[in-house]
Parts: sequence; C-alpha cells; structure tokens
Amino acid sequence: MYDSIIYLFGFCSVLTASKIRRKIVTKGWESKVFKIPINAFVERWSIIMIDDVKQTECTGCKVCADICPKEAIVFGENKEGFWYPQIDESRCIKCNICVKHCPVINNVIVDNNLNPDVYAGWTLNNHIRYESTSGGVYYELAKKFLEDNGYIAGCAFSDDYKSAKHVIGKTTEDLNVIMGSKYFQSDTNGIYIKLKALIDSGEKVLFCGTPCQVAAVISFFQGIPDDLFLLDFICKGINSPLAYKAYMHELEEKYRSKILKVRMKNKKYGWESLATHVIFSNGKEYLKDRYNDWWILGYTCGNLFMRENCQRCQHKKIPRLSDITIGDFWGINGCSQKDYEEGISVIFINSKKGKKLLENVQDRMHLESRKFEDVLKGNPYFMEQAPAHKNRELFFTSLKEMPFSKAVRLSYTESTVQKCKRWIKIFLKRICKRKKW
Ligand SMILES: Cc1cc2nc3c(=O)[nH]c(=O)nc-3n(C[C@H](O)[C@H](O)[C@H](O)COP(=O)(O)OP(=O)(O)OC[C@H]3O[C@@H](n4cnc5c(N)ncnc54)[C@H](O)[C@@H]3O)c2cc1C
Ligand code: SF4
Ligand code: SF4
Repeated sequence: MYDSIIYLFGFCSVLTASKIRRKIVTKGWESKVFKIPINAFVERWSIIMIDDVKQTECTGCKVCADICPKEAIVFGENKEGFWYPQIDESRCIKCNICVKHCPVINNVIVDNNLNPDVYAGWTLNNHIRYESTSGGVYYELAKKFLEDNGYIAGCAFSDDYKSAKHVIGKTTEDLNVIMGSKYFQSDTNGIYIKLKALIDSGEKVLFCGTPCQVAAVISFFQGIPDDLFLLDFICKGINSPLAYKAYMHELEEKYRSKILKVRMKNKKYGWESLATHVIFSNGKEYLKDRYNDWWILGYTCGNLFMRENCQRCQHKKIPRLSDITIGDFWGINGCSQKDYEEGISVIFINSKKGKKLLENVQDRMHLESRKFEDVLKGNPYFMEQAPAHKNRELFFTSLKEMPFSKAVRLSYTESTVQKCKRWIKIFLKRICKRKKW
C-alpha cells in the first residue's frame, strides 16, 4: 500500500517523489517498510541531478566525481570551506551514473553483525601507543596488512600541514604519515579510482576513513570486493578545512614561522587532555590542552565548524558498514590511571573479515572483551547526532573578518551549568590521581 502511495505521488510530481524517496532513504525506512525496490522506480522516473543533493545531506565524499565517465563533476567550496558538487553542463551526458552511486541518495546496506564483538585494546609497542590517537589499534592493523603485502588507504596531511587528503600507502613510512587523526575533512578526490585500479590488478587494500567515506567506497564498487578491507571510526562529525587552515595560518603568524608538524591529541599531558601540538621551523612549539586550545574548544565543546550534514548523519547505527570500527574508549572501567593516560582504543568487530584482521594482530596487542553498553556511556556519538552550536553561522561570518581564535571566542558560549561542570572537572583532575576507574 505504501508503495502505491509513493507511485501516486511520483506520477503527480517526479521531483516530489525523488524528494520523498530521499527522505525515506535517509531515515532508513526503505529496507524496513517497503518491499519493492524504490531505486528501480527512481531510476525510471527521476530527474534528480547530483547537484540537487541538498547541502544538509551531501557528505562531500566525491564519489560522484570519481564515477563520472566524462569528468563533468567538479567540486567548489561553499563559504564555510566545505566541498559540494557542481555539474559542468557542457560535458554531462545525463547518464545519471553519479546519482546511482551517490551513497546519500541510495541506501548502502551490508550484511554485518547486529551484535558486534567489542574489545578494549592497545598496542604493546609503547612508542606507537604514545604516537597514536587512542590505543594504536589502527597502526597495528595497518602494519600487519603491509607486512602481508597489502596496500593501505587513509588520510595524510599535506606537506604544509594546512590540508589533508586520502592517499595510498605501501610502506611503513607511508603508514607513519597516514596514522593519527586529523579532525577536519580529508579530500577523497581520486581515491576511489586508485582503489579500483589496485583491486582490479589483484591487490589487497585496507581502507580507513569516516563512516560516510566507507559508505562511499561501497557505493562506488556497488558492493565490497573480497580484497577490500574497510575500517571506520566512531565519528562525532567532520570540521571545515577552511576553519582548520585559518587556525594554522594564525599560529604561523603568531610564531612567525612555517609549520613543520602538527599532532592532534598529543599525550604529553595525558590522552584525555586532547592537546594540540604544533612544531615550527624556528624551533618553537605550541602545545595547549582542550581547555585552552581554541580549535578543540570550538570542536569538542562547541560544534562550531562541523559540516552541516553531520547533524543528521546516517551512519550512527548498527550494523556498521565497515569490517572494524575503532574509537576512543572514554570512561572505561577497571583500567589503571597509567593505561588511561596512555590511550585505550575501542574495537568493534563487524564482520568475518574484521574478525580475521584482529586475530592477525592479537599477539601485538593487549585485548579485553567488553560490553557494548560500556562504550556508549563515554562515547555517545557512536549512536547520537552532534547538534551544531547556535552560533555556527556567526562563527563562519566572523572568520571572514578576524583571526580564527577571535571568531571562536566570539561565537563560543557556555551555559552557567556547562561552565561549572568544566571548572569542576579541571579542579578534580588537578587534585585527584585515580588508581582505578
Ligand atoms: C573527524 C574525526 C572524529 C572522530 N570522532 C570520534 C568520536 O566522537 N569518538 C571516538 O571514540 N573516536 C572518534 N574519532 C576517532 C579517534 O580520533 C581515533 O582515530 C580512533 O580512536 C583510532 O585511534 P588509533 O590510535 O587506533 O588510530 P589513528 O592513528 O588515529 O588512525 C586513524 C585512521 O583514521 C584515518 N583518519 C585520520 N583523520 C581522518 C580524517 N580527517 N578523515 C578520514 N580519515 C581520517 C587515518 O588515515 C588513519 O587511517 C574521530 C576521528 C576523526 C578523524
Ligand atoms: S556522491 Fe558524495 S559528494 Fe557527490 S552528491 Fe553524493 S554525497 Fe555529495
Ligand atoms: S558524522 Fe557522519 S556524515 Fe559526518 S563525517 Fe562523520 S560519518 Fe560522515
């Protein structure tokens, strides 16, 4: 009956039907409620073009550009510095292949675990653990994958540390560049074509990215090739590359020197300090924790410069699309203060392939089986949306006229309750040394 209603709407207005369908897809109702493939209907009747995908839904994954046989899709930046597709009408042959591969328009479904096994873990290599964002599970999985003659694909900073993009790696040197979280959007232009070239030539690849990038990879291949292994992470949301660039630019001006290295979540003051560390070519260093660094305040506390669609992310659910999901095991019980300060990863095994990947590195890691509920207590963004700050627009308007830190200071406001909570937390941290959680 529901299908007939949709068809009726569809005959009245094809465009409206596309919009309704997109709503159904983004709400995840398609597979639950509708028995017939709505995609078939849309393919037949749709006049939707890729640049019709709303700014509030497009993830900027850039699959549409990589799949286009005529290179007719280019990406412009909006005023917030996020990428959105534009069609070059002179090249477009209206084949609609981009629409068919867009992971937002089409529901990406996989047959992964509904009750994934959950582990807390960290690498036994202390140096790698210190250098990693949480417990270093990514490094160990990727290292073993390289040793087994595979390739890795992940996010790397540009040479000037002012942007990031997805690259392919084959060596430990490449891995050293790819490891570590960069908390702003990575440019995936061209990565899907490179993945396909490797898979087509019989190579194995371990891809790591945001859950929406993993959805994009699956959508690009219209499935998951046997030799493609997928990792994602718990993702709160992705930040504006423009905001990040402005932040780095301001630091370079302040320190009167070029940036040599950036490290987010430096552990000098402990994992939970979320400190940002920047090294300059004149030898000076910037190291500030979550309560004093304007980037971390604007992101973790403020949600001031997150991509618009992240507020209604389709991927904060189970089953996950990746083989393994990694993240920070915030608030874990029963670990020593020392282990907590050094970083603990949470690991979700979502598929048979994921199980095998973790088994391959179990001799290099400390692993403990944990309950799913334990993760949610300290890491709500596994399932919950992160709403944007009410002053998000003010931030981006201000950023045009003033340095990054000033724009954050102007836009970032806390309620009295939030302020009290923050100060109590700082106070307790300074006076208490925990032995057990
Ligand atoms: C934007 C963002 C938001 C996150 N939000 C949360 C959260 O809310 N809760 C939580 O528990 N964990 C979150 N994480 C994950 C967390 O920061 C760690 O990456 C994770 O715990 C794995 O740590 P690790 O030490 O094993 O791996 P790492 O050494 O950190 O390596 C992680 C992998 O992530 C890839 N990566 C890094 N930056 C990006 C990027 N910008 N885009 C795409 N891929 C990237 C790298 O290529 C690498 O393959 C987030 C990560 C990012 C990048
Ligand atoms: S394929 Fe990706 S970038 Fe292109 S419209 Fe869809 S979500 Fe946006
Ligand atoms: S919150 Fe969702 S949509 Fe936003 S970057 Fe993360 S996975 Fe993608």
